[in-house]
Amino acid sequence: MFTSSLPCVHVVGANVYGYTSAILLILQGYKVTIIANHFPGDADYACNYPDNHVNSHWQTEASTADAHLQEYDATSFKMFWNLAKCKASESGIIIGSSFKYYQSPTDDQLNPWWKNVVPGFETIQNHELPEGVQLGHHYTTVLINTKRYLGWLQTQFLSMGGRQRRAAMNKILDVVGDQDHVSMIVNCSDDLPLGTDALDTSSQTIYQQQYTVQASQIRKAVQVKTKDEELYIYPRMDGTVVIGSSRRKQHDENATQLLNRMADYCPELTWGKGMDALNIIDQEKTTKSTRLHGPRVENQFIVTPLGTRLSVTHNYGHDGYQSSWGSSKCAVRLVNEAYANLKKDSQSISELLSRL
Ligand SMILES: Cc1cc2nc3c(=O)[nH]c(=O)nc-3n(C[C@H](O)[C@H](O)[C@H](O)COP(=O)(O)OP(=O)(O)OC[C@H]3O[C@@H](n4cnc5c(N)ncnc54)[C@H](O)[C@@H]3O)c2cc1C
Repeated sequence: MFTSSLPCVHVVGANVYGYTSAILLILQGYKVTIIANHFPGDADYACNYPDNHVNSHWQTEASTADAHLQEYDATSFKMFWNLAKCKASESGIIIGSSFKYYQSPTDDQLNPWWKNVVPGFETIQNHELPEGVQLGHHYTTVLINTKRYLGWLQTQFLSMGGRQRRAAMNKILDVVGDQDHVSMIVNCSDDLPLGTDALDTSSQTIYQQQYTVQASQIRKAVQVKTKDEELYIYPRMDGTVVIGSSRRKQHDENATQLLNRMADYCPELTWGKGMDALNIIDQEKTTKSTRLHGPRVENQFIVTPLGTRLSVTHNYGHDGYQSSWGSSKCAVRLVNEAYANLKKDSQSISELLSRL
């Protein structure tokens, strides 16, 4: 039940950033309504949001120079870690071991800023590296069952009194519609332009190919970064493992070729029995777009055609779950700033009126 005097914030987007922002806003005392065309639990949710039936694993793409992204990712890691320790089965987050290999490491990778964020970070000895790999890191991280985690976020949000409204929109400002009480929006959707302006097109397409196999012996995540590709193995709680590759260019490789390559980095995959030992349960090819300049987390003030001034706090363009708590914490700070700004606006009108 909403009890605070803070206004209602409309959050656009019912995926991980929408729910995380919404939960933090409610904790701050705002009334929150999430608006989206698809919600977790919908029968076709996984078709529309394929990432939500794979697995995530905390890893950072923040460069040494990007202090903001580093903070988002480090803050999120702390929260995921606490969830894994206290609420593993409800939230679908577990603690796991991770190996990261680089074929041609950059300076950032040789001296990663995040080595003190994750527990047990160590550089793997050269003689222990798989063939063709120049650098390897071993560390402890969190593995996220995205479907379960999203369901958990939604349950938290609803149990705190949050509201959901289903609507297919053409632009973010459709939230306003004929409702004159909308003054603050949080935008957690990559797919929608704000108003009549063009969609933010500063993004690139990534092509993903992945297989789910039965391999309960795999208890570690493995990632391999090459110049033009990222290969990964993410174990899930149910004894299955997601194995895949993502690239900037489309490519076709059959299951045997890809799984064979991965077995070079994780021999336990086949126990030396060859590809026939692997039971492939599912396979898919998908594309995802990522924002070239990283996520957008900032305030924008707009005057609607009806003359209402409103704030839009952007929190979109993220490439993975790893920044969700940190960037949403920042979004809440921005909403507080926007509220103070809008309040000052209305106060100054009251001041003018009082001088009449
Ligand atoms: C195929 C694929 C695989 C991925 N694999 C991984 C992975 O393994 N690990 C990982 O961490 N990340 C992965 N990602 C990236 C990760 O999914 C994204 O970072 C994450 O989904 C971003 O979530 P978001 O909250 O920003 O919302 P988005 O995914 O951008 O969701 C947008 C929300 O806005 C709503 N919306 C959109 N358009 C409209 C409209 N017209 N009207 C009303 N509502 C609308 C939607 O219903 C949705 O709720 C993958 C992404 C894809 C596509």
